[in-house]
Amino acid sequence: MTELTKLTIAEALTGLEKKDFSAVELTQAHIDMMEKARHLNAFITETPDLALTQAAASDQRRADGQAGALDGIPLAIKDLFCTKGVRTTASSHMLENFTPTYESTVTEKLFADGAVMLGKTALDEFAMGSSNTTSYFGNVINPWRRDSDPATDLVPGGSSGGSAAALAARLCMGSTGTDTGGSIRQPASFCGVVGIKPTYGRCSRWGIVSFASSLDQAGMFARTIEDSALLLKSASGFDPKDSTSAQKDVPDWPTMLESGVKGRKIGVPKEYNVDGMPAEISKLWQRGIDWLKEAGAEIVDVSLPHTKYALPTYYIIAPAEASSNLARYDGVRYGLRVEGEDLTDTYEKTRAAGFGEEVKRRIMIGTYVLSAGYYDAYYIKAQKIRRLILQDFEKAFEQCDALLTPTAPSSAFAIGENEDDPIKMYLNDVFTVPASLAGLPGLSVPAGLSENGLPLGLQVIGKAWDEQTVLQVGRAIEQAASFTAMPQLNMQKAA
Ligand code: GLN
Repeated sequence: MTELTKLTIAEALTGLEKKDFSAVELTQAHIDMMEKARHLNAFITETPDLALTQAAASDQRRADGQAGALDGIPLAIKDLFCTKGVRTTASSHMLENFTPTYESTVTEKLFADGAVMLGKTALDEFAMGSSNTTSYFGNVINPWRRDSDPATDLVPGGSSGGSAAALAARLCMGSTGTDTGGSIRQPASFCGVVGIKPTYGRCSRWGIVSFASSLDQAGMFARTIEDSALLLKSASGFDPKDSTSAQKDVPDWPTMLESGVKGRKIGVPKEYNVDGMPAEISKLWQRGIDWLKEAGAEIVDVSLPHTKYALPTYYIIAPAEASSNLARYDGVRYGLRVEGEDLTDTYEKTRAAGFGEEVKRRIMIGTYVLSAGYYDAYYIKAQKIRRLILQDFEKAFEQCDALLTPTAPSSAFAIGENEDDPIKMYLNDVFTVPASLAGLPGLSVPAGLSENGLPLGLQVIGKAWDEQTVLQVGRAIEQAASFTAMPQLNMQKAA
């Protein structure tokens, strides 16, 4: 039965249709894998009973000729999406016992198309991080290991690390993520899977625990571009419950993937050649450029001159919005409450106990940059630079259809590495943050292995609302790279 966990979503849908296996069998095969891979700590909450009930209902729908686009496909859901009746923690002590009475729009759409939920995956606390080490429920272990040093546990990336690790270890067929500054693309690169963040406004944010509302965007992890297109199509669409959701038709992406890149113009931004970029990342990028050239694309050099300000801009705007969003956790309305001597004392004790170190750091930075006297110097300035970053992209897209860059400046690092210095950790986001600030669609596609045998991704960034081109370029890279490597040691605990 473990062979079922090797299928792509597209293959599984065909198998279900042909009655080669049932949704219950497909789901059970993944539940068995989840049990064997508990040491990866990818899930905070497993929902096997719910999954089997949903799978049985799916089999019935298929028998009745009423199967939806994802009917019977077992997915993992990042524990930032509110799921009705299923605990939703945001990987925080603050929400450790929070069970929503409502369903997020994205998960509602996936379930309406017949998807099955295996459980809720771990993340960095409130999605703040790049390594999954800030989770209250312990770090997630990447199923991949270094050839030279297989005993060392590596991070899966973050913040959607549990979703990426679960998929790479074949505990699910696809998973949801959210991406505020790279939280889908960077873990996809670290775990050797495809991760897509659509244009801001494409997927509803309703029912997703907020981090930085002007940046947060839902997206999907899958093992192939085709599977990503299937999942994204199901999850996308206008939602009147989210005022930043866009009234845009959702194209039929899965049928548009094979157009190739002949004659398309692919921009290579020179500013992404950052100081100290490891040689293997530059080599991978060059290989990607060569692949697209061979496939008939025209490569153009472009400039995004404000790139160097993207990280500091992001690390002002994201904490500012976080400090405001997280004000709601006061021990009165949601989650944890630690009783104090009076109301103020209750607030303080609750927030001191409920939030982890990184979340507190962000709340402090955010409160500082929003405070009277500093607001103009930091927050307003950052907003102005954000506009310049967007204009850089708009100018670049006058010369090209999409951009190609590395996804992250390194492969997966060891758990504990980069912990001594928050700035070092923030550098992980150097290639992903600019597209987030500009609200543009981006994906990471596995493109090769590092010298140490770890997956590396290439990032494709597109024009607003042009996920179609992003997916098509991703498909061309996928074909050229034919990345078939799988983590070898995913079921063994390090010695
Ligand atoms: N790593 C980035 C941060 O820590 C991005 C996180 C995200 O996209 N949610 O903020």
